[in-house]
Amino acid sequence: MNKLKKNIIWIPIATAIISTLVLVYLSFGQKANYNKQYSLFLQDITDNNISKVIFNNDANLTVFLKNGSKYSTSNPNSPTLKEDLLKNNIEILDEKVSSPSKTITSVMLLTSIISIVFISLNKKNLGSSKISNLDVKDFSVDENALNFNSVAGNEEAKESLMDVVDFLKNPDKYKEYGARMPKGVILYGSPGTGKTLLAKAVAGEAKVPFYALSGSDFVQVYVGVGAARIRNLFKKAKAHGKAVIFIDEIDAIGKKRGGSNASSGNDERDQTLNALLTEMSGFGEKEGIVVIAATNRLDTLDSALLRPGRFDRHIEVSLPDLAAREKIISLHLKNKPHNEINIKDIARKTAYFSGAKLESLINEAAIIAAKENSLSLNEGHINKAFSIVLAGYEKKERSHYLEEDRLLTSYHEAGHALLSLIKTPEDTVSKITIIPTTKGAGGYTLTIPKDSSYQRLDYLKNRIMVLLGGRAAEELIFGKDKISTGAEGDLSKTTEIALSMISEYGMGNTLGLLKLSSLGQLSNSYGNPVVEECRELINSLYKETITILIENRKILDKIANELLDKETLDKEEIYTIYNIFK
Ligand code: ADP
Ligand code: ZN
Repeated sequence: MNKLKKNIIWIPIATAIISTLVLVYLSFGQKANYNKQYSLFLQDITDNNISKVIFNNDANLTVFLKNGSKYSTSNPNSPTLKEDLLKNNIEILDEKVSSPSKTITSVMLLTSIISIVFISLNKKNLGSSKISNLDVKDFSVDENALNFNSVAGNEEAKESLMDVVDFLKNPDKYKEYGARMPKGVILYGSPGTGKTLLAKAVAGEAKVPFYALSGSDFVQVYVGVGAARIRNLFKKAKAHGKAVIFIDEIDAIGKKRGGSNASSGNDERDQTLNALLTEMSGFGEKEGIVVIAATNRLDTLDSALLRPGRFDRHIEVSLPDLAAREKIISLHLKNKPHNEINIKDIARKTAYFSGAKLESLINEAAIIAAKENSLSLNEGHINKAFSIVLAGYEKKERSHYLEEDRLLTSYHEAGHALLSLIKTPEDTVSKITIIPTTKGAGGYTLTIPKDSSYQRLDYLKNRIMVLLGGRAAEELIFGKDKISTGAEGDLSKTTEIALSMISEYGMGNTLGLLKLSSLGQLSNSYGNPVVEECRELINSLYKETITILIENRKILDKIANELLDKETLDKEEIYTIYNIFK
């Protein structure tokens, strides 16, 4: 297809060249290259030397002599000249009205020029397939029949996007209540977690067209082209009324500005970004257009993008946990003949797999089954497919590392959760997971703090213990030599809290009620003692944390084992375990 298009361009180019040559011949080939006085021309008539006279568009006549030569002379525009010529048996050609051959050639030339322009414009877009898709065809509503059932797991993201669907269906309802609905939504999370799928599902659920392009299509295009593409995209979407506009890899155009490369070479990106922001502020809420953008990392985006009225809703799309993986596997097995496949078992073996990786695992298995001419897909095929899919993996994801990591992460997160249950019971532990997110390296434990305007000394100490619970559990269970880098984020927070307590809130001994940041130059002399006091505070709280874990080892083990098994524990499951032992 591509090749054909590449070659097809030679047809109009050849036609253009040929028609230009013909035109040149028609216009100049019949023109004489030397001039004769009119009186001499009249003499030629009388002498009967002339065979043919051409009346051109210009002020000259072209005169052909019987001996084969030709010349031009002024056209007197006399009404009797033609009559005289005819009387003398001289042929007259009137080229004032352009000859049919000239007209045909001109039309051919014009057509070929238009085709050349058209084909080369199309070709430019071929390089960026998503854009040409957009130019060539708009997804119609039925073609795009994806809905939320096509996306397994990601329940929280779906719930949040349900609002957007409702808004697309009834924008007027929200307008009546004066509610401002998001114009822009950012889906963020690891690659292959289903962000594109979710955006398509929103369009499918709301039964509106889906327009997509990718930020990477704007890299290395000429200045102004990106901005024009953005405007073009919005124009198309607006012409449809309601629509979902999807921009994949938004970071390619919306990366944080500043730094060394801000000065040069980023004109194009800035123009594209500005065009996007202008277009987004250009449509009203009632129009029913929602822009959904996807990125792997939220923290690299320019804050201009994240302001209210722009992309102000941020939805995390995370890697699937055990239950979600089971759903994704079933979903992709649905249209393939299969038997005796223990889906739960495969889900277990595929920790840290994204939805896209699971899809490719099943697909590889299907290819193997087809090659073997098996009647249906079985577990053997999936096991073979594993090695294919895993071959491209980094070390970390190979299975024996994987089991060790899962165990370590389970205890780390269980440590946080247990400390929170015991030391900050006023906060709710609403979720624990060992599936990594963009926020943390290992898993994470989500605690919702009680609303309170002040934080008291004992609470701050307890908060530090909760943060230290992860590292403490690692040390207690696996030994001092096996502690991991997974606690880095926890330690920054711990250090910040301790430092604020001692240097800002008047809660320490070194400074007493003095506030370090108000001491100006004098603050230097307190630097080291303050650091020393922070270190002592954190160390003594760490010892206390270890003691609490030892005393509650049974609960720690139970939470960690449940995590290892289920990967994610919700609020009910967490409190059920805790209440059994309490
Ligand atoms: P992203 O945009 O986050 O990189 P995609 O939406 O392009 O990921 O996902 C690629 C493919 O992986 C999808 O087309 C689908 O087949 C599969 N996939 C990913 N996540 C899911 C999911 N949650 N449920 C079902 N399939 C999924
Ligand atoms: Zn931690």
